[in-house]
Amino acid sequence: MKLILLGAPGAGKGTVAKMLTKIDGSVQISTGDILRGAVQAGTELGKEAKGYMDRGDLVPDSLIMGIMENRLQEDDCKNGFLLDGFPRTIPHAEALKELLDKLGIKLDMVVDIDVPRDVIFDRLCTRRTCENSECQAIYNIKSMPPKKEGICDKCGSPVVQRADETEEAIAHRLDTYNEKTAPVAGFYEKEGLLKSITGTSSDAVVDGIKEQLGI
Ligand code: AMP
Repeated sequence: MKLILLGAPGAGKGTVAKMLTKIDGSVQISTGDILRGAVQAGTELGKEAKGYMDRGDLVPDSLIMGIMENRLQEDDCKNGFLLDGFPRTIPHAEALKELLDKLGIKLDMVVDIDVPRDVIFDRLCTRRTCENSECQAIYNIKSMPPKKEGICDKCGSPVVQRADETEEAIAHRLDTYNEKTAPVAGFYEKEGLLKSITGTSSDAVVDGIKEQLGI
C-alpha cells in the first residue's frame, strides 16, 4: 500500500505505520526517525537539523525534500510505503506530488488521524523512546512501560525522554502542527485522497484503514 499518515505529533502515526507494515511488507518512512538517526550519528544532516528539532521547529524544506527524494527511490519502497511525518507543509505536499509524478507512483490514500489535543499532550509528556537510532521503539510510562524500567525490551538500550518532549517543546510542536501541517489535509481533500479517522486506539485506526482499502 502507498499511504500518507497525517496527524499531530502523538496521534499514533508511528504505531499505526508499524502495524500496517506487517500486513503487506510496505515500509514505514518516518522523517523524524531518519533525522534523529542522523543527529545521533553526527552527520552533516544531523548537525544542521538538531537545533530546529530540539526547539520543536520544522527543519528546512531543502533538507527534507533531499531525504525523501532519495528514500522513495530505494528498492524496498517498491512493495509500498507509509509516510509518517511527511508532508508537513503545503510546499512539501506540492513538492511530493511533483516527485511522485516524476517517479510514476500513485498514492492509494491519505489518512488523517484525528485525536483530541488533551489526549495528545498527555501522551507526549509520558512517551519515552529507545535512544538506539536503529530501534527507536516507543513506550509510555503510564500505558506501556518497558518491562525493566528505562531499558528497551527489544534491544536493551536506554529508553529516554526525547529532547523535544518537554512540555514547552510539545506545546510548540502542536502549535507548529496547527499552523503549518493541519492545512495539508485540505490539500489532499481537494485531490480526492483524504480519509479522516477519529481514534484514540491504534487498532481502531488500522481497522478503519483496512476497511477503506478493502483488505
Ligand atoms: P516527529 O518524530 O515526526 O515528531 O519529528 C520530530 C522533529 O523532526 C520535528 O519536530 C521536526 O523538527 C523534524 N521533522 C520531522 N519530519 C519533518 C518534516 N517532514 N519536515 C520538517 N521537519 C521535520
